Amino acid sequence: MSATPPNPLALDILAVAAHRDDVEQTCGGTLLKMAQMGHRTGILDLTKGEMGTRGSAEDRAREALDAAKILCVSWRHALDVPDGRVENTWENRLKVARVIRETTPRVLILPYWKGRHPDHYTASILGYEACFLAGLKKLEIGAEPHRPFKIIYATLYYDIRPTFVVDITDQFEARFDSLMAYKTQFSDQEAGKGIFPARAEIRARVEAMARYYGMLAGVTYGEPFLQKEVGLVEDLTLIPVKSI
Ligand SMILES: [Zn+2]
Repeated sequence: MSATPPNPLALDILAVAAHRDDVEQTCGGTLLKMAQMGHRTGILDLTKGEMGTRGSAEDRAREALDAAKILCVSWRHALDVPDGRVENTWENRLKVARVIRETTPRVLILPYWKGRHPDHYTASILGYEACFLAGLKKLEIGAEPHRPFKIIYATLYYDIRPTFVVDITDQFEARFDSLMAYKTQFSDQEAGKGIFPARAEIRARVEAMARYYGMLAGVTYGEPFLQKEVGLVEDLTLIPVKSI
């Protein structure tokens, strides 16, 4: 028996999202913070953005790599699921399950399972079911069976009270820069507006959301998450977030 060589693709945390720039908007600060703590992070975008009104899929690929660099992400990949048509099919579940096996994340970040955009909530269910499949020993799709230990949901796109917030006060500016890396999306607004008002407006919105979730947890900027499980506490005197 020879020892299995270490997996060069192995990640500690993988974020799965429907579209390039979703992660930047919902959990980019958290990914950067985790990378700064020494964890290996990755992003799997299900689609390539070919339906976007502004820019091509090639533009978005380049921008996604720029954004990944800003967030210190170790690995980023886009699947070929059609943009605007993310469907929870067997084929798509297998594609995601294969990535989960190849990257063996301990933590998986999925979009929240309700929302306005069908691609977002479908990506959530698709991601969860892919985790289940990825652990089935008899499913032969290459790589060893693996399931993430923890699945958490990024809730920023939906108005729901999060179960916890990650303090991204120190990462906020870089997270905003990673969103601005999508130049074709955010700097080319309709004529007459120009780049600066558009940027200022986006900045105000992004900041308001981060401030709001930060405020809930008693910090300046935060990103909201939901976990289905209960929290587990060892020492009552160390529970964060002030009550009164
Ligand atoms: Zn999206």
